[in-house]
Amino acid sequence: MTHSNTPVGTGTLVERDARHIWHPYTQMKIAAPPLPIVAARGAELIDEQGNTYIDTVSSWWVNLHGHAHPYIAERVHRQLMQLEHVIFAGFTHPPAVELAERLLAHLPEGQNRVFYSDNGSTAVEIGIKMAIQYFFNRGEKRRRLIAFEQAFHGETFGSMSASGDLSFNTAFESHLFEVLRIPVPVPGRQSEALWALEQHLKSGEAYAFIFEPLVLGAGGMIMYEPEVLSEMIAMCHRYGVLCIADEVMTGFGRTGRIFASNHLSEAPDIVCMSKGLTGGTLPLAVTSCTEAIFQAFYSEDKSKTFFHGHSYTANPVGCAAALASLDLLEKPESAADRERIAEQHRQFRQRIEQHPAVRATRQRGTILAVEFESEEATGYFNSLRDRLYAFFLERGLLMRPLGNLIYMIPPYCITNEQLQLAYDAMDAAFTHFLLPQKEEPA
Ligand SMILES: *Cc1c(COP(=O)(O)O)cnc(C)c1O
Repeated sequence: MTHSNTPVGTGTLVERDARHIWHPYTQMKIAAPPLPIVAARGAELIDEQGNTYIDTVSSWWVNLHGHAHPYIAERVHRQLMQLEHVIFAGFTHPPAVELAERLLAHLPEGQNRVFYSDNGSTAVEIGIKMAIQYFFNRGEKRRRLIAFEQAFHGETFGSMSASGDLSFNTAFESHLFEVLRIPVPVPGRQSEALWALEQHLKSGEAYAFIFEPLVLGAGGMIMYEPEVLSEMIAMCHRYGVLCIADEVMTGFGRTGRIFASNHLSEAPDIVCMSKGLTGGTLPLAVTSCTEAIFQAFYSEDKSKTFFHGHSYTANPVGCAAALASLDLLEKPESAADRERIAEQHRQFRQRIEQHPAVRATRQRGTILAVEFESEEATGYFNSLRDRLYAFFLERGLLMRPLGNLIYMIPPYCITNEQLQLAYDAMDAAFTHFLLPQKEEPA
């Protein structure tokens, strides 16, 4: 029953939405109305009027092979007709077992156990809880997590705590646990970051270091090199501290390898995955770990159990979608697409680097970020962001500027022509909004 007097189903989709729906990361009073999307194909979203939008952000970084992919749909349908769900405590099923085996083949050396859940924040939460209880079960007291200053790890209290100084979390700050911070080892700050890490490790208080490998996503597409991360992981291991790779954004081919951790010479102990896991089809997450971590829980003593589980743990339909997505991801054509996109990005960077409004460009595999000069305060709340967002939508492009940068994390099926439309619009936006003589009145 609704509390308004409007009969159910009255008005347009957008009007009905405005009456009852609360959207994520949206100031509902001032935000533009949401776009009513009724279908999607490949890299394109289609609205009620038949307008199309190129999804350059893979619908919040989840989509890999294009929307409504017939192969994934067919595999999901087959699984739905066979077994839609079963409790995962005391039971198992083929898709969960097969997915564990196939994921481990791609994960860095040493990963040997898979724990299922259903979203990225939860995958991180589980990784943190595993690390804490690993030491607890061994009778060691360690209270602190180490994380990057601009980290983003999710929306739950543990993952918010692990996240760095982001303006979104202000209201909850006094409820978060304290984390030891270190700078991101971007070029020029590598020795500073290594030094800060070692100081925290020497304190003997840390149980784990959590990081987004090579690319920090929501913190501003900040990129750093695999060599320094390998060095940091090796340093943690010398002090007996666990390393948690949050691959929720970087996983499943975005950085050029299946996992960003595959670029490293030193392997993490725990890996968190979600977003691209099902190709963007269904919510599913995995936290994997080494056998050594698992062994700290493996006991006749019931108090050493990992007491964690969700209603939808290892949902068979989600696992089937993930298996279908892996089939597509492992094809040589998909690898060729990722290389093609990376090459297109490189050419665009060469073209745009000299633009007077461009401060810097960054790229890792299929992830592209262009930072622009801006007089306005940077960050999530600046109004330039909203104007840029609208500018791209008018041109049939879904792009979500982040602070003073525009980024792309496209699905691998995006065509060169679609990429070109996005590059040209970025170029036009820099000229239209950002060159001083073209500045719009405030
Ligand atoms: C998006 C994201 C998360 C949170 O995932 P959700 O599925 O949105 O809860 C965690 N870590 C990283 C690196 C992410 O990009």
